[in-house]
Amino acid sequence: MIDARGSGRLGGVGLAVAGLILLALLPTLLLAWWFAAASRDEVVSRAADRLAQGAQLGSGLYGQMLLAVERSLAVEPTLVSLASGDRASCEALLRREVDSHPFVMSSLLLGRDGRVICSSSGRGHGIDLSDRPYIQRAREQDSLSVGEPLVARTAAMLVLPVARRLGPSAALPGRGDEPAIIAAALDIDGLARRLGEIVTDPSSLDDPTIEVFLVDRDNRIVAAWPDRKRKGQTIALRPHRDGGAPVQIMREEGGTSLIAGLTPLLTGGIRIVLTEPLEVVTKPANARFRDVLALMIGVALLGAGLSVLAARRVVVLPLLALARSAEEVEEGGRPTALPRGPLFGELETLRRAFARMVDEILRREASLSEINRRLADLAQRDPLTGIANRRAFDAALAQAWERGRQTGEPFGLLIIDVDHFKWFNDTYGHLEGDRCLVRVAHALSALPLRPNDLVARLGGEEFAILLPGADAVGAAKVGERARSAVADLMILHERSPHGVVTVSVGAAAAVPTSLGDAKALLAAADRAAYAAKAGGRNRVVIDGIDSAQQARPAVLEVR
Ligand code: GH3
Ligand code: MG
Ligand code: MG
Repeated sequence: MIDARGSGRLGGVGLAVAGLILLALLPTLLLAWWFAAASRDEVVSRAADRLAQGAQLGSGLYGQMLLAVERSLAVEPTLVSLASGDRASCEALLRREVDSHPFVMSSLLLGRDGRVICSSSGRGHGIDLSDRPYIQRAREQDSLSVGEPLVARTAAMLVLPVARRLGPSAALPGRGDEPAIIAAALDIDGLARRLGEIVTDPSSLDDPTIEVFLVDRDNRIVAAWPDRKRKGQTIALRPHRDGGAPVQIMREEGGTSLIAGLTPLLTGGIRIVLTEPLEVVTKPANARFRDVLALMIGVALLGAGLSVLAARRVVVLPLLALARSAEEVEEGGRPTALPRGPLFGELETLRRAFARMVDEILRREASLSEINRRLADLAQRDPLTGIANRRAFDAALAQAWERGRQTGEPFGLLIIDVDHFKWFNDTYGHLEGDRCLVRVAHALSALPLRPNDLVARLGGEEFAILLPGADAVGAAKVGERARSAVADLMILHERSPHGVVTVSVGAAAAVPTSLGDAKALLAAADRAAYAAKAGGRNRVVIDGIDSAQQARPAVLEVR
């Protein structure tokens, strides 16, 4: 059974339409995804560039700071002349130097042999530093020599050792032309802080997401800004020897990904690294992408939903109505659910074709049932006379007998046989015989009978009249009317004793019981007819079922 009203369920067509819409929107979704990914990549690359530029700026600043330190250390003539005097004034001079420069933590004056002559802290006199690589380098070169970061014994903090050879004019008195070396410990933290402050955008100073690190060759943080506690930790940069990739994306232990811009500082194997969490950088782009995606999915779902509704209205419901109509036609009725046109697109063609088909089916059905009705009628009708035939008579007899059994009413039966018909045929020909039979049949049919009475031709020149509700006397009366009706036709029959065609009528009646049957009644009527023939023809003879065995004919009327 088809639910032609179209329930709220999503049927096959609706699902297919929704699927198609989503399929059609898929490329757009993918495109949006691609654009979002591209814009995210661009954001990341812009941030990386910014960080790399910051690192480069830091590297430049570092150079400038060292230059400043170098300049401030170039005080040799005074220093040396003082150092040749007394240590106290040498130390005072060095201290003044330390105080005047923000990044210089301490300074030393060394002889060419690498031994400390005097220091800003007043300690370490006479210590031999000649084995330190940066001191050795300072002996060889004119520019500032920068060492690896080290922990300053005095302050227990990480410092950057630098040294510079003083010019030949600063040869120490009493030591030949050996120039002195001035060394200083620089405050790496201070350097990093200063670098951090300058390289990060002043407007983002409150934003703790950008961090500045100075890292050594082993990726160990030697200075960090603003989070100084990171000092001593290792960060996951690719090894230094991997070259100068100015930008890296690195993953920290906690799982955070950082974008790093880095530049090696000119000296000391130190790199300056600026980092920013990837998540912070991509957050706005991701949020935008989420919004766009949500919007697109919403639009897609809305589109699919509306399409399903439209498809349901435009396609599914008309189809269901057509299917329901087909079912109604199949069940033998007229379609009540046939949708009214015009429908959408090809559905209208389908609807019209369907309507034509239904009309044709109904037309053929009507014509077939008419033919059937006629065939059924013909099957019940005698072809020559047009009255009921033997088959119709037998059926009516059985039916009347059954009804009589239920009601307890009697019914009568007449057998009517044309007298000397063989002679009639012989005299006037078979065709005339036929005509005679037709006239007799019409005369019998024209008798005033009750609606349930039936006149039939049993075969040949033998007729019968079924009279439900009639007893033997009633039946005999009808028999007599039949006899006289035929005689009144005045059909010429020279060889008949009456000169016209006559009939002999056997009448019988019975109250149907469960014991007897209709055949017995028929036999009784036959016997009565036989008796009428025997009695001289053109007469009615009554028989009764009760007296059937005794064959006791009662002659009503004799002509
Ligand atoms: P009875 O008075 O004893 O009935 O004599 P009958 O000659 O009428 O009876 P019988 O049974 O000897 O003959 C019946 C005749 O009816 C024989 C047959 O040729 C004729 N007959 C039967 N059917 C038809 C028919 O359809 N058309 C014509 N023309 N004659 C028929
Ligand atoms: Mg006969
Ligand atoms: Mg006859």
